[in-house]
Amino acid sequence: MTPDSLKRLREWFRANAAELPWRPADLDAPRDPYAVWISETMLQQTQVSTVRDYFTRWMKRFPDVETLAQAEEAEVFKYWQGLGYYSRARNILKTAKIVCENSLDPLRSASRMTGVRKMPETRKELEALPGIGAYTAGAILSLAYHQREAILDGNLVRIFSRLYELDFLPTDKGKIIDCHASLQEARNDVQVSTARELAHALEKRSSHGTKCNDVRASEIYWEYAREVADSLKAYMHNEALMELGRTVCKTKSPLCETCPLQKECRAFLDGRTAEFPPAKKRTEKSWHGTVLIIESADEKILAVNGGQKFLDKQLALPHFESARHATVALPAKGEDYINADEIESLKHCGTFRHSITVHKIECEVLHVRLSTKANATHLSKPTANSDKPTAFEWIEKAKAFETFANSFSLKALKKIF
Ligand code: SF4
Repeated sequence: MTPDSLKRLREWFRANAAELPWRPADLDAPRDPYAVWISETMLQQTQVSTVRDYFTRWMKRFPDVETLAQAEEAEVFKYWQGLGYYSRARNILKTAKIVCENSLDPLRSASRMTGVRKMPETRKELEALPGIGAYTAGAILSLAYHQREAILDGNLVRIFSRLYELDFLPTDKGKIIDCHASLQEARNDVQVSTARELAHALEKRSSHGTKCNDVRASEIYWEYAREVADSLKAYMHNEALMELGRTVCKTKSPLCETCPLQKECRAFLDGRTAEFPPAKKRTEKSWHGTVLIIESADEKILAVNGGQKFLDKQLALPHFESARHATVALPAKGEDYINADEIESLKHCGTFRHSITVHKIECEVLHVRLSTKANATHLSKPTANSDKPTAFEWIEKAKAFETFANSFSLKALKKIF
């Protein structure tokens, strides 16, 4: 992007930046790295409007990394419930513990001097932490520490694809981009200085033994992102582009008339904004199953740890894959959880639909009442198979709604209680 474009981008951002709980009024102020980390992790795959309340609630309960490091996983899950991708919450907790342990070591961190547990300040250290990838590391380094570090999220990908008419996605894994033609074009096009910058960068790689046509799709995008971040104002360019992508360069119907980058946007100038970025090949996975609400004679409910991968080893109601039909008997797989001889009554209570990441779930709900008390009930042994639970637990029926932290189990419970 040209210096003029970047200046227009900054002016646009200063005039249009939304008020957000994680964004200080002074857009030039360095941020709290912990708050950047939490907000950016929550924002992955989730709308800003949803994250607002989650972030505020989270920061009230876990205002700093030290408080978070001392929390139990079950409580962290509760504050995450509804955001999905529970592995992110688990990784946040793991990382908080690592950061606190390391910052107690005077050889590992200057934070010992100030008494404040700090997030690392280099990309290498950050990316070594659970759940922190190139994007989140770039966000922490640029927004909190004001380093010249690049970020690349879906908003920036959409903008770069349209600005430069890139007809591939960074996630096109294994795809080799033949950039020779576009580089030649870029060299001949004096108006597209950014593309020429890119060409230089790629040529440098070429002289180090990487041929131009061996450059990966993601590298092209990152090259553009680094160009934007190569400035004292990297923090503002990064955040302004995220905001522009969210509010102006939208997926459907971009508001080009109000866009500060209109003058250099190839897709806009060619009337082809609807063609970029190319559609992502999303493979949805359908899963049909049965969930069991097994209630003992002394009013306890059976819970399992583990099961289907989409529940990511959370405490959940027993569930398994099953055929698509209403059931009046306990399916054979149900005997992994309960001895059929102890069943007093069994009722099919309906079906619910649920989505977790790419999984489209449809589930039958069976309410199984036992004639025996919880502890007297025979349970099969836990197994290491990922399709089976790794541990069983009886929970109080009265506390079922507050015990489960996943919508999958809560939706099933609502069919009965
Ligand atoms: S001109 Fe339109 S398509 Fe191009 S970056 Fe701006 S909003 Fe996006």
